Amino acid sequence: MSFRTRFAPSPTGPLHLGHAFSALLAYDMAMAADGVFLLRIEDIDQSRARPEWEAQIYDDLHWLGIDWPEPVMRQSERQDAYDAALDRLWAEGLLYPCTCSRADIAAATSAPQEGTPLLGPDGIVYPGTCREKSDRLGSRPRGMTLRLDMRKAVAGVSDLRFTETGTEPAAVTVSSAELITQVGDAVLARRDMGTSYHLSVVLDDAAQDISHVVRGADLFEATQIHVLLQRLLGLPTPIYHHHRLIRDENGKRLAKRDDARAISLYRSEGLTPDEIRSKLSI
Ligand code: GLU
Repeated sequence: MSFRTRFAPSPTGPLHLGHAFSALLAYDMAMAADGVFLLRIEDIDQSRARPEWEAQIYDDLHWLGIDWPEPVMRQSERQDAYDAALDRLWAEGLLYPCTCSRADIAAATSAPQEGTPLLGPDGIVYPGTCREKSDRLGSRPRGMTLRLDMRKAVAGVSDLRFTETGTEPAAVTVSSAELITQVGDAVLARRDMGTSYHLSVVLDDAAQDISHVVRGADLFEATQIHVLLQRLLGLPTPIYHHHRLIRDENGKRLAKRDDARAISLYRSEGLTPDEIRSKLSI
């Protein structure tokens, strides 16, 4: 199997040490396997994506010694593909519109008789408020949040599995019961975006013919949604490699706002790419 992987940053802030680790690891794995490393710009959230962050991503990655074939895939140019997949799932009756706000969901799950709200890969597991009351007839509504009806989605699906080679190597089985109770009706199209992270990442990995997804362990739980979507949309399931997360000295995971660990800052202080690698033990 040829090895094709990608690094898929969102241009919503500076690349920090955690991104450098992810990109270098994926790049090194691709080079060691005589494979291909691709870059993808995950800019579906146009309210937060900025051209200057995108330019900084290219610059920082080149400085780290990473290169990639052009043209780079940008999610903001892929809405037709996302629409086609949403149309298909809608026609199969697997989606429904949802009008709940975050506050509605919090209120619906915080009633004392509900117990502690269950947390899934996207936060509180959706309690299903709109599932039965929404109209699923006619053509797919635009400009609305669309959720996957998880019960229906898993009904005809068996043996969902994927191979994990990262932090805890395993053949992972995705259980339908857990998808229903612990993931629930995931959002596949956000009102303001017309797509979602889950849908776009699955379609783009397939479009880029990705054989190995290398990314942080924080996305391990989301992988079950991705594997289900691959099955529903007739797409191949890549091999997944979820790597350890880079933490700050307090053990907290680095986030975009951790500008103190921005690659650009280390660069301006005169660190070399090799010193970044040794900081990351890579
Ligand atoms: N765009 C995601 C991020 O910035 C990465 C998605 C992925 O690798 O699947 O964290």
